[in-house]
Amino acid sequence: MGVRLVVGASLLALVAGAVAVPAFAAPALPAANMEAVIKAAQIDPRRPDTTPTTGAKASVLLVEQALDAKNLLAPTYVDGHFGTKTIDAYAAWQRSLGYTGLDASGLPGRTSLQTLGEGRFTVTHLLTPGAHVTYHGATMNTRTKAMLVEAETLLGRQLGITQGSYNPGGDPSSAGTHDGGGALDISVSGMSEATQTTVVRRLRQVGFAAWRRTPSQGDWGFHIHAIAISDTDQSPAAQHQAGDYYLGLNGLANHGPDDGPQVTKVTWEEYQRA
Ligand SMILES: [Zn+2]
Repeated sequence: MGVRLVVGASLLALVAGAVAVPAFAAPALPAANMEAVIKAAQIDPRRPDTTPTTGAKASVLLVEQALDAKNLLAPTYVDGHFGTKTIDAYAAWQRSLGYTGLDASGLPGRTSLQTLGEGRFTVTHLLTPGAHVTYHGATMNTRTKAMLVEAETLLGRQLGITQGSYNPGGDPSSAGTHDGGGALDISVSGMSEATQTTVVRRLRQVGFAAWRRTPSQGDWGFHIHAIAISDTDQSPAAQHQAGDYYLGLNGLANHGPDDGPQVTKVTWEEYQRA
């Protein structure tokens, strides 16, 4: 009995020593900015070339080096550009953690990114979509709701929501755009075209990629379609639309030019800091 206690104490001393030495010797880990990574993951796959997103290259490199270290990304794609190969590699990382469906879309979420960084990098500027809530009768997350409430405050009016988020197969004409988080369809019933443009402008100012949609563009009636930029619950279709918005496109399959009011493109987090 006494012998076993002594052995146990020795082991404790050994463990304590083993923990203490690297804690003093370990250099500080570099930081990956999650806001920058998510912005790049929306824009870079939509680019015609491998240009990195401004302000994101160093953080994307940390993510890509970690994916390479796990043999999920070939070294040739470790370039600071979060293109389709990096999306695919990140999706494989998410699947390896047990995520499925939209949770393994290749758009990083907070938990998978922090886990990828273990021993390699820390994650700053965390993005969280928040819980699902109902607002104006539609399902959305708390981040999207806060953005919508702010746009309504700027407008001085309430908006009608004809389709919310997390609505798989809710509207076949939306091609999966509303399957995940951040997606809203807004009624333009009773609004002049000028008012509709003002609504789009306000939505853009708080961090939505928003457009006025017309029946000539697709199998839908007049409405405003909005995607919360950098919502980590976005479906791939919504992710592409947010990227297209940054690249000056209309977010439709025809890759036409953006036909909406021009504003400084910001995320909700950037808007709040401004
Ligand atoms: Zn829509």
